[in-house]
Amino acid sequence: MIFNGMDFDTYFKNYPDENGYFGKYGGVYVSEELKAAMAEITEAYFTICKSRKFIAELRRIRKEFQGRPTPISHLERLSNKLGNVQLYVKREDLNHSGAHKLNHCMGEALLAKYMGKKKVIAETGAGQHGVALATAAAYFGLECDIYMGAVDIKKQAPNVARMKILGANVIEVTEGLQTLKEAVDAAFAAYAHEYKDAIYCIGSVLGPHPFPMMVRDFQHVVGEEAREQFLEMTGELPDTIVACVGGGSNAAGFFSGFLNDPVEIIGVEPLGRGEKLGDHAASLKYGTEGVMHGFNSIMLKDENGEPAPVYSVASGLDYPSSGPEHAFLQELGRVKYDVIGDDDSVDAFFELARMEGIIPAIESAHAVAYGIKLAKERGRGSVLINLSGRGDKDMDYVLENYGLR
Ligand SMILES: *Cc1c(COP(=O)(O)O)cnc(C)c1O
Repeated sequence: MIFNGMDFDTYFKNYPDENGYFGKYGGVYVSEELKAAMAEITEAYFTICKSRKFIAELRRIRKEFQGRPTPISHLERLSNKLGNVQLYVKREDLNHSGAHKLNHCMGEALLAKYMGKKKVIAETGAGQHGVALATAAAYFGLECDIYMGAVDIKKQAPNVARMKILGANVIEVTEGLQTLKEAVDAAFAAYAHEYKDAIYCIGSVLGPHPFPMMVRDFQHVVGEEAREQFLEMTGELPDTIVACVGGGSNAAGFFSGFLNDPVEIIGVEPLGRGEKLGDHAASLKYGTEGVMHGFNSIMLKDENGEPAPVYSVASGLDYPSSGPEHAFLQELGRVKYDVIGDDDSVDAFFELARMEGIIPAIESAHAVAYGIKLAKERGRGSVLINLSGRGDKDMDYVLENYGLR
């Protein structure tokens, strides 16, 4: 399909290019030493991950350990209440460990095993990536160091407990705002010392090449399954698909199944408390081009050009940039990026629970809220929402800070 001059039949062959760019976004902006480590991972990825043995092993793990394919659910009661638009959710909340993140963690950890590495290192925000990676590390018998901001450690106590029970070392980061951005910095610094025995497993489609590509490819299974399942369920493609965007991994994998289809694609960023810098984390909507954490993308910067403080009720979404491929897809006009704030997300959190018996992750609730908004605005059509994770981790926080709605 040709869209705004871009041929999406050949998109995946051409992007990223051999230097890791999606248009002008992406690249490898790290020290010479880490460049060598990235080159090693890139080479391993292209040889190992394309091998029949690796693909067969990952496929078996997805089925027998993760519980894939995850289903699509038709939100019948909610759709009927809102009008004539039919809402559907792809149930990544039913993926083992409760979110889409295990999809790329099992891929990254399997790659680590094939590369002969002994340890995996990562950062985590909501704790979901840490739990997913600790799960993968336990499965493969790898050591696991997880860097986490002190603020997030307090907010996400159950996930911290999970990581520890799974045998991971949780390392508290007390710099700056003590959230995801600082955790990424600390994890990168550690990796620079340990890259001979360890592999960095980034939690989203972020960081230097090859991570944005690799994580998207490991998440592609979500979009691939969803497209096939939706066609089987309804005989058609969805009119619109929606996913929340923090770093952008659940969205990248989900969207990748539909880029070459006549389907409207919408990424939802967190508007937090409002439009003022520091009150939100809607980088694609309000940001400008810049380099951070090893890649060029669109980001929120303060007056000194440094990554700005960001905020969202959803720890997994409060990051001052998004993956380079999202910046590119926005520039191409293929994907539209819009925003939803804390309050609407909390409403959607309760609405999905009450109407459908599904408690969504507060991150995923942003996408659900957007789907609800579309259903109210439009008279007909279908909307498929990626329900990136389950909300057990958020229940106490939501009740304490917002009360029952
Ligand atoms: C981490 C997380 C997100 C945000 O990460 P992306 O890379 O943008 O997908 C969204 N939903 C859930 C449930 C998460 O755990």
